[in-house]
Amino acid sequence: MRELSLSKTDYKTARECPAKLYYRMKKYPSLKEGNEYIELLAQGGYIIGAIASLLFPHAILVDEPDHAKAVEITQQLFTQENITLLEAAFESNGKFARPDILIKHGSRLTLIEVKAKAFDSSEETPFRNKKGVIAASWQPYLEDITFQALILRELFPDFTLITELMMPDTTRSTTIDHLHKFIALNHITEDDSGYPRARFTFTGDVEQIRESHFLTRINVDREVADLLPEVSSAAEIFLKSLNPLTKLPAPISFVCKDCEYRVDGKEEPNGFRECWGTLADPKPHILDLYHGSQVQGINELIAAGKTSLFDLPESAFRKKDGSVGPRGSRQLIQMRYTKENEEWIDPQLGTTLQSFPYPLHFIDFETSGLAVPYNAGLHPFENIAFQWSCHTISAPGAEPTHAEWINVDEVFPNFTFAKSLMTHLKRDGTVFMWATHENTILRQIAQQMEGRLEDPELKEWLEWMTAARMVDMNQLALSHYFHPLMKGRTSIKKVLDAIWQVNPALRERFPEYVKEEDGALLPPHNSLPTFKIDGRDVFVNEGTGAIIAYQSMLYGPQKSDEMIRDQWKQLLLQYCKLDTLAMVMIYLHWNEKLT
Ligand code: SF4
Repeated sequence: MRELSLSKTDYKTARECPAKLYYRMKKYPSLKEGNEYIELLAQGGYIIGAIASLLFPHAILVDEPDHAKAVEITQQLFTQENITLLEAAFESNGKFARPDILIKHGSRLTLIEVKAKAFDSSEETPFRNKKGVIAASWQPYLEDITFQALILRELFPDFTLITELMMPDTTRSTTIDHLHKFIALNHITEDDSGYPRARFTFTGDVEQIRESHFLTRINVDREVADLLPEVSSAAEIFLKSLNPLTKLPAPISFVCKDCEYRVDGKEEPNGFRECWGTLADPKPHILDLYHGSQVQGINELIAAGKTSLFDLPESAFRKKDGSVGPRGSRQLIQMRYTKENEEWIDPQLGTTLQSFPYPLHFIDFETSGLAVPYNAGLHPFENIAFQWSCHTISAPGAEPTHAEWINVDEVFPNFTFAKSLMTHLKRDGTVFMWATHENTILRQIAQQMEGRLEDPELKEWLEWMTAARMVDMNQLALSHYFHPLMKGRTSIKKVLDAIWQVNPALRERFPEYVKEEDGALLPPHNSLPTFKIDGRDVFVNEGTGAIIAYQSMLYGPQKSDEMIRDQWKQLLLQYCKLDTLAMVMIYLHWNEKLT
């Protein structure tokens, strides 16, 4: 049997946690399944890859998913004195990688790794912290290219090797409008190390892209040299564990909370259960604690086999000086009310809610800030706001009414978005949002107006609106409300799902969101209707899905099909509408409990 090789994706997985490498090789059920594709689509990473490849006009793509064949093709092409290869394949001593771009010029190699990560070229030492050490946020990206450099150094010890990252530069803007529409995704392939690769057709002006793109190449030779010994020895350990396949030891800790192998307890095989054994069983679990990673001594407690939420002494939530801060009081409330299995609602919330003048507006925005800017003049990752929803309660006891706006045209939508919102909200009453995203977006739109739009009324309204005027319901939930079903979370969905389970009056009032499966009541977001698009049942019930839906509606392969465009639009409208209705439902629930 062919020995297993260590790909850069395997390396990255093992660096997160060595036990994950074993589960990945054994294809254990994972919460990440399919997510790489969704991320690739949502972040526009494939478009960055596409643009990068267009910058090398004579590059040859090694379009071969099979590992061994791709290595063979690369070897043949590498006999040429000067050549640029895309997705070349190299294997050395059991390690395998496919560099995004490799330029061979005689005995000089330039290895370029393309990343859809924001890079600010105005920073003096972008990859290092104040102490000169490589910053944790850059470490995985730099280790990725170091792993590839390691292979090339082993294979070509006499060559000069230059290493570079190529990334969207947030100090640059694009001169091209709607770049997305010129890059049509044909399909996504997977090489045999499981790495997704996009295949696309470009229909725009290549010369224009080459002259005015917004990607930057940054030399990382120093960082690669620093990391090489560490990456080399880690790779050796990981490789050894593949032949024969053995699980490397990995201590359990609070980090396991977000492990992709923490799948439903009934799934088999179950990576989380293998790591935690019976320590996975307690309910409520210690990993469900609000901001638990910041509790002193929590990992020692886990190591000692104490993994029930109730194993934590209340003293753990105190600061060193004995006081209890906002985080500690939330943790105490979670602990106490989970023990009692009771909902907690702070009576003070009643006074707070009563102080808000009517009409009460509940707003939510859908926005997208992709690596590739949507419009000329925008920077990478700059947001566009393409949709808002607003539910309004005009007076005590009044039925909520709904208004919405969505952009369906290939235009820069932000100013029309803001104007329509201004016309709807005016300066009346109270505006509720969940978390601070809406405030951030309105501030950004005010900034985007500089030099682009002369509209004093809108400018003044945006400044007025964002002067700490909007009320953050997430903050209200954090300070005044808890239900054991929420565990340690206060996202709008978590709060809504909890009250939906316990408040039959709400279900009677909004029956269109009541849906059951196998006798269990589903969360309202899972009751939203699906549409059949391109033979697939499609739905939108979270933010990333909304970005993909918007992309598909405006720039997808069926963008000229009116019916399909309308279906994407309906999916977006129903999703955003439910988010603001969710705020209304939570508000109604709180009011009901307080009166
Ligand atoms: S549960 Fe923890 S130890 Fe096990 S694979 Fe996940 S992160 Fe690693």
